[in-house]
Amino acid sequence: MPRLKDYYDVLGVQKNASPQEIKKVYRKLARKYHPDVNPGDKAAEERFKEISEAYHVLIDPEARQKYDTMGHRAFADGFDFTSFWDRVARETGFGFSRAGPGGFGGLEDLFGGAFSGFQAQARASQRGSDLTYNLEVDFMEAARGTTRHLNLEKESLCGSCGGAGQTGAGVCGACYGRGRTKEAQRINVKIPAGVDTGSKIRLRGKGEPGLNGGPPGDLYIITRVKPDPVFARQGADVFVTVQITVGEAVAGAKVKVPTIDAQANMTIPPGTQGGQKFRLRGKGIKKLKGSGRGDQYVTVHVTIPSDLDERSKEIIKEFEERTAFDPRNS
Ligand SMILES: [Zn+2]
Repeated sequence: MPRLKDYYDVLGVQKNASPQEIKKVYRKLARKYHPDVNPGDKAAEERFKEISEAYHVLIDPEARQKYDTMGHRAFADGFDFTSFWDRVARETGFGFSRAGPGGFGGLEDLFGGAFSGFQAQARASQRGSDLTYNLEVDFMEAARGTTRHLNLEKESLCGSCGGAGQTGAGVCGACYGRGRTKEAQRINVKIPAGVDTGSKIRLRGKGEPGLNGGPPGDLYIITRVKPDPVFARQGADVFVTVQITVGEAVAGAKVKVPTIDAQANMTIPPGTQGGQKFRLRGKGIKKLKGSGRGDQYVTVHVTIPSDLDERSKEIIKEFEERTAFDPRNS
């Protein structure tokens, strides 16, 4: 509906009124006409809308100047009031598009808690939203645990006004009355040993700040473990492949294999077959739930040399004749 009364008249101030004056008058009028104070009174509601609209235009230096030079035309041509109110609601945290009694922001929103008489029925406190952050970690970081420094851009309570949206001088200049600001934050996250792809680490209270004194939400770090050229994993178990020679497979040997701690010595028994799997108990990854560690499984591949000289070939032939072993008929 068109509301074309002069904004200065609506508030009853002079054209040259200072922002402080406008604010003071607005507070006085808003207290009188706020729907919380006049439940069911349509006339008071209309009046409240009028004064709020006038206030939001006159308190915004850019909008006020537009209005001063163009009058209501400033907002009639190419100025969408619906989106204007949405913007006001977004920026200030209160306005007509906010849900609440009669669709208005509570008195507490308007007066930053200073208006204690009606505060009790005003907007309930609300817990801040949870945030999630997807974090890629290396295989070893996941296996051993690590500390990571994250640079997040997140909302936090305004440092200048402490979230009230106002300072002694009026609307807070740092947050424009929103009570919160977006800022870069560096957070240290301890990644426990054992995280896997899809693990959630909860940082209590590191989410968005709460509304009206409500507690902040939590921040969930969701990990994704990058593939590793040496190690594979399934839960807490680790899998590696180790190459051995024909001689080691036949006669047995002690070989070094990589584990997540350091190199480990592993015994290859005589007569080991290619593809055979050995288990190193407790050499896997720490179990996130429960205690202890998984195991490491080592699969051996027997590497066959491809560039033997004549003498070596003779020896192999001799060896074959001597053992007379037929793997397809044994
Ligand atoms: Zn502020």
